[in-house]
Amino acid sequence: MTEKTVCLVCGKTDFTNLFVAKDKLVSGENFVIRKCTACGFAFTADPPAENEIGQYYVSEDYISHSDKKRNLTEYFYHLARSFMLGRKRRLVTLATRRESGILLDIGSGTGYFASYMQNKGWTVSGIELNDLAREISVSRFGIKVFPPSEITRFEDQSADCITFWHVLEHLYDPEMWLKEVRRILKDDGRCIIALPNPDSADAHLFGAEWAALDVPRHLWHFSPPTLIRFIEANGFTCHEIKALPLDVFYISVLSYKNHHYMLPLLRGMVTGAYLSAGNLLRKNRSSSLIYVLSKQLS
Ligand SMILES: [Zn+2]
Repeated sequence: MTEKTVCLVCGKTDFTNLFVAKDKLVSGENFVIRKCTACGFAFTADPPAENEIGQYYVSEDYISHSDKKRNLTEYFYHLARSFMLGRKRRLVTLATRRESGILLDIGSGTGYFASYMQNKGWTVSGIELNDLAREISVSRFGIKVFPPSEITRFEDQSADCITFWHVLEHLYDPEMWLKEVRRILKDDGRCIIALPNPDSADAHLFGAEWAALDVPRHLWHFSPPTLIRFIEANGFTCHEIKALPLDVFYISVLSYKNHHYMLPLLRGMVTGAYLSAGNLLRKNRSSSLIYVLSKQLS
């Protein structure tokens, strides 16, 4: 375990424990969620060391990497993924004001988004830690995907868009990654970061049982104010925050399922519908948020 002693966002050292969350997906272990008393940033206090985290991703149920439709929850997830591909493309198009260009997807998984964008005319590369996911991206989709250590191969100012779809919260050194993004992104390029929102209505409802805590895989729990402070300190400006409206359904179903409630799908859909209605006029209460960033230019 590696205990954090300095706040990633503000550099202060005074923390308070929020609650204890359980890894419901793989290990069953408990992890403390801690909060900086100065800036409010929440983080997983005692995650495994980086060279030990791999075993916490070894799960039949880690469906981000799976294509099976074994039950209704996974069916729902895959249906939502198909819908989301089109939505992500529209986000990229609007953010970059381009119909095509050079795109780098960091944490590209098995390559669905990368492949979809390539088929729509973009030139796409990926970065992915998981060996099997990289092999699948290459063999199934013919996408160029590299392990994280090869981020240095990308040339300065070469990308129109760099995307982190639910990835930044997994990275042990997000400052290093933002530095690389600043280097690789063109001056008029856009970086898109999607994150779970610990200020969301569903996060408040489920508390320690909120599925998007996903400890210990999620190291950082950025809210809108802490994410903006963090990216501004690393040379970016936030242009826009958008909601990901479907995530509240998926996260609610998963939160009920993980904690063995009866009828998790039905409960999750009802809760999702209820919270979505409440979030209509309060974007920053959405389950997940997308931040559109550009480089600060001096
Ligand atoms: Zn802080």
